[in-house]
Amino acid sequence: MRTLKSYLQDHWVEGKTPGATLHDAATGQAIATASTDGLDLRAALAHAREVGGRSLRAMTYAQRGAMLKEMSRVVHENRDELIELARQNSGNTRSDAKFDVDGCSGTLAWYGGLGARLGDKTILLDGNAEKTGRGPRFVGQHVFSPRRGVAIHINAFNFPAWGLGEKGATALLAGMPILCKPATATAVVTVRIVELWVAAGVIPAGAVSLLTGSAGNLLDHVGPQDVIAFTGSGHTGQVIRSHPRVVEFNVPVNVEADSLNASVVGPDVEAGSETFQMFVGDVALDLTQKAGQKCTAVRRILVPEALAEAVREALSERLAAAPIGDPDARETRVGPLATASQKRDVELGIAKLAGTALRIYGDPAAVPAQGYYVAPQLFLDTGGAHAPFVHDHEIFGPVATVLLYSGSAEDAVAIVARGGGGLVCSVYSDDKAWGGDVVLGVAPWHGRVVWGSKKIHDQSFGPGTVLPGFVHGGPGKAGGGEELGGERGLRFYSQRTAIQGDRALLEKVLGQLSGLET
Ligand code: NAP
Repeated sequence: MRTLKSYLQDHWVEGKTPGATLHDAATGQAIATASTDGLDLRAALAHAREVGGRSLRAMTYAQRGAMLKEMSRVVHENRDELIELARQNSGNTRSDAKFDVDGCSGTLAWYGGLGARLGDKTILLDGNAEKTGRGPRFVGQHVFSPRRGVAIHINAFNFPAWGLGEKGATALLAGMPILCKPATATAVVTVRIVELWVAAGVIPAGAVSLLTGSAGNLLDHVGPQDVIAFTGSGHTGQVIRSHPRVVEFNVPVNVEADSLNASVVGPDVEAGSETFQMFVGDVALDLTQKAGQKCTAVRRILVPEALAEAVREALSERLAAAPIGDPDARETRVGPLATASQKRDVELGIAKLAGTALRIYGDPAAVPAQGYYVAPQLFLDTGGAHAPFVHDHEIFGPVATVLLYSGSAEDAVAIVARGGGGLVCSVYSDDKAWGGDVVLGVAPWHGRVVWGSKKIHDQSFGPGTVLPGFVHGGPGKAGGGEELGGERGLRFYSQRTAIQGDRALLEKVLGQLSGLET
């Protein structure tokens, strides 16, 4: 069995004990072990801060962008191997694995392009300069400069490639070295990508570290210039945020956690219309892609009562056309969940949901005997905002609940808000007034809102797809974090400082200042 290694202080190292065992999600067979036992994490962070930080800060945004393009190229050139590893370790179908692997290379390339646009600078100006004194010479300018610590990236099991790439792209472009800690259970793809980067010589010394296995005492060594970006359960997010060292040094923590994403169909939408088809396609994709293990997948489907039967029929038809089974088989659309414990959690969640809601599609028993399979299922709850379970608990699998509502924009917003904050909400309507009320009504509860309508019905990737140019994150239950969003994503890794002084001196180090003309 393979022993997965960590990459610390520019060397491949392994823990002293066998540690955790990783499995093939489709068969349950053990495939690798990973341990961080005995690794010197204090020294690893110090090396990344000193050597990696220095390497990256010596580069301009354009040079860091060129590095990201190379990192993207390496991932893309080895796509087939990575897709095969994702099938073995995470139970991904080919299409699910492509979504993850291409998401990684695509996001790296996108930020590579941003680096080229930002050009030959090493800090970024924020807004215009302003006069701070009575005369014209004493002025102030806000700047962003790279923090001098390590960007610690603690990732979830569901996107071992994209998680590495999306967090890594923003931090590295901002000029911070990264230490990525993938979820242990699905670390194979992440480890392979870092191996490929190291072998290709595309990362400067100290810029990328990898911790494969338990986080161990990593957080005991964080310092005041480090940052932590975390994706996973709300509970772990809280544990990380409240770690004494994180609290003592006010280490910024970005959290992407549980999210009860909603999809709302407007009362103007007719069954069979283009907008209706768009809605049905988006929801069916979210239920089947990655077996529903996407942080952005829809969990609550708000439907006016008059449309309920048409929605049930259309979704049932789509789900019936998505066979579950061996991720290696061409016809398979739904693979297994990633781990035995995820299957257990999802089945527990379904049992609780079934106690209060009616199953309207899916046969829980219709799954292969081996592996971590859960059949796609659809529930109906007539409790609206008062439904007891569906607004509070994220079932991280191929499961969603239809909720009936009156059709009023106000009701829709109130029910969506019961989720307590989400990553994304999708709204389907061609009615400007109704759609506008709902989109703006749910906006404060989300990091992203997708308004689906007739004219764009065939142009969307679906609300579940996170794009590098738009923010990913959400308030409240979704963790309160924000990643990506183009240049916005660099801010978490940069310190904003107002520099005040003589305009002539400031311009010597910052370049020409604008906003002082009047
Ligand atoms: P998790 O237990 O929170 O693990 C997420 C990451 O945190 C993993 O890398 C894990 O490492 C690490 N971790 C766990 N305890 C830690 C600690 N004390 N200090 C530092 N790092 C720690 O989440 P999960 O098991 O992957 O998923 C559980 C649930 O989270 C899912 O069912 C789903 O509800 C939710 N989830 C949400 C999202 C999202 O983006 N919204 C994504 C995935 C999952 P190890 O793997 O080594 O334990």
